[in-house]
Amino acid sequence: MATATESVRTALACAIALCAAGATAAPPLVAVDIGHTLDAPGAISARGRPELEFNHDLARALVKALEARGIDTVLVNADGRIESLAARPANVPHADFFISIHHDSTGAHELTEWEWMGTSQTFNDRWSGHSLFVSRRNPDLALSTLCGRSIGARLQRAGFVPTHKNGRKRGYVDFEHALHHFDNLIVLYRAEQAALLFEAGVIKHRDEELLLRDARYQARMADEIATGLAACLSTRSDDITRDAR
Ligand SMILES: [Zn+2]
Repeated sequence: MATATESVRTALACAIALCAAGATAAPPLVAVDIGHTLDAPGAISARGRPELEFNHDLARALVKALEARGIDTVLVNADGRIESLAARPANVPHADFFISIHHDSTGAHELTEWEWMGTSQTFNDRWSGHSLFVSRRNPDLALSTLCGRSIGARLQRAGFVPTHKNGRKRGYVDFEHALHHFDNLIVLYRAEQAALLFEAGVIKHRDEELLLRDARYQARMADEIATGLAACLSTRSDDITRDAR
């Protein structure tokens, strides 16, 4: 897979060189989508916290990290009340990139019961780590994939470990970076721009849940995602500039 490796290498190199060179161009606009809603808050963590709250925290940290790099952002589903999955990309047709923030869980049959603060909860300590998803129905699969690899590479370089839990059901685009196909994810195939879904970690894992709740951990993770995105988006703006000449 020399081509894939080269693309990631180019994207990473561009994080430094091309971002600086393209400083006069309009900054890219990234839509950061907070997965789930108040009415359907997603999985419940090992200690009883809804996924929506984890998604909210990491999405806000990502917005901050992107803006620190001069990338414009628009938050999707900021109030947790968005009406549908299709409305998420429909609200941001003008964005250059769409990233949906989620946290992973495990199947009901894999869970064990335990008591936490006097409440009955469930956990699974087998699986932990992040993973990424693209849809082959997205109109810009090439950039979606490049950004997935670029983010995955940055995260692993910083010590974040991906999960292969989802390889049991979802085919790989790139095994090394835990980047999967998930063709029928509405937010990805209805997006008018390149799009990714990011699962930050497994909230049913008791140790990983504590990390995912930690603001410094969130900031570190957001920083690596933002660096990866800046890298792949700067590669694209270089292509656009070259095409326009
Ligand atoms: Zn989710």
